[in-house]
Amino acid sequence: MNEIDNARPPASRRIDGKALAAAIRAELKRAVQNADFCPGLAVVRVGDDAASQSYVAAKIRACAEVGFASRHIALCAEAGEQALLDEIEALNRDEAIHGILVQLPLPPGFDETRVISAIDPAKDADGFHPLNVGRLLIGLDAPIPCTPKGILRLLDSEGVALKGKRAVVIGRSNIVGKPIAQLLCARDATVTICHSKTRDLADEVRRADIIVAAVGRAGFVRPEWIKPGAIIIDVGINRNGTGKIVGDVAPECFERAEAMTPVPGGVGPMTVAMLLENTWELARRNSNPLQRGAD
Ligand code: NDP
Repeated sequence: MNEIDNARPPASRRIDGKALAAAIRAELKRAVQNADFCPGLAVVRVGDDAASQSYVAAKIRACAEVGFASRHIALCAEAGEQALLDEIEALNRDEAIHGILVQLPLPPGFDETRVISAIDPAKDADGFHPLNVGRLLIGLDAPIPCTPKGILRLLDSEGVALKGKRAVVIGRSNIVGKPIAQLLCARDATVTICHSKTRDLADEVRRADIIVAAVGRAGFVRPEWIKPGAIIIDVGINRNGTGKIVGDVAPECFERAEAMTPVPGGVGPMTVAMLLENTWELARRNSNPLQRGAD
């Protein structure tokens, strides 16, 4: 390792997603108090996956905190896909509901694309509907998926200039990897998407000014991969051997980075805050017929 590789940024910063998310929730709460409508979010969960149950509970709690109406619909896996589609159809018609999200993953046997496509695109709180995914890709207004939107907000809050920067995204899922790569590209970063078939992943990461890790493997990103002064966004939520929640990035990477998100307390709280923000935007738009359907 040469001298430059050993160079450490003056002081690594912890990017506090928990604090930023709390500030966004406080702002939304004030906005709701002054609004002449009450945003309504429906969260639909199928099956008994423990992680999904806790994510849904957090979303419902967040709605209560900011003064949104919320509805939690829990179906057993045996109810089947048609029952789920019927619920979605009823929510599409319900004027008190402005945002709908179906908690993923769905149990085996459910067709996720079919289910997500059944949500009215104007109530698509997660931004996963194929129409909205396409709109976002070609630069039209659309709800932005919550985790990528939260990542951009964290980078902006740190004053990270994206134009011309090399960004490496590890992971190419529809909910994180692909949309964050697209959003970073739209903000003029030069983006490389890496995945399980990427050759020389460490070399790709070493070139990056900005690293987004969305892999789902505890401590996967190693400190020797990090260019000193890089910005690291750790999306991963994993349980280690002792049951503790840890990210995809080894904690020692912090020493090499200019700034890095912690896990927990980084991207996770921002995902929930962005869900609230998306619901607020959908409610505002749908309560004004002139704006509805406008580009
Ligand atoms: P997926 O499992 O859908 O995608 C994981 C990606 O990582 C895939 O593209 C896969 O590649 C890639 N990958 C797996 N192994 C390797 C490897 N050895 N080298 C390089 N790439 C690899 O996960 P998600 O995107 O849904 O989630 C990723 C992580 O983020 C999880 O820990 C999840 O819990 C967390 N998460 C956190 C959120 C938050 O709010 N903080 C929100 C959403 C997710 P390939 O495509 O080739 O299989």
